[in-house]
Amino acid sequence: MEDCLFCKIAAGQVPSDKVYEDDTVYAFRDINPQAPIHVLLIPKQHIASSADITAENSGVVAHIFEVAAELAKQLDLKDGFRIVTNSGSLGCQSVLHLHFHLLSGRQLQDQMG
Ligand code: AMP
Repeated sequence: MEDCLFCKIAAGQVPSDKVYEDDTVYAFRDINPQAPIHVLLIPKQHIASSADITAENSGVVAHIFEVAAELAKQLDLKDGFRIVTNSGSLGCQSVLHLHFHLLSGRQLQDQMG
């Protein structure tokens, strides 16, 4: 989608610190990490947020979780990690392209909200 930052990152038009790529999924390090490991996993196709997941596009979401589990092994996150997605203004979503934060490398906070 035109003017979508994460579409441009997935297409290689904006530089990123890539950690994984296949035909449908792209993963890269967050530019403002909130933990020692902070990777963003995105579908290459434009889906605005988790509110826009449907029966037609949910396959790529399942695949993102398979990739996340594989990355967790590669990054040696055997002690645990967190996967978060923010949606909409109340959810503090700042980039309107579906993305999952993979966080680890330190003890994460107990509270989610
Ligand atoms: P959210 O606030 O859940 O929408 O998350 C958006 C995330 O994208 C934030 O953690 C930002 O630090 C991250 N971000 C924004 N621009 C870039 C970029 N060019 N490269 C990597 N991460 C970015």
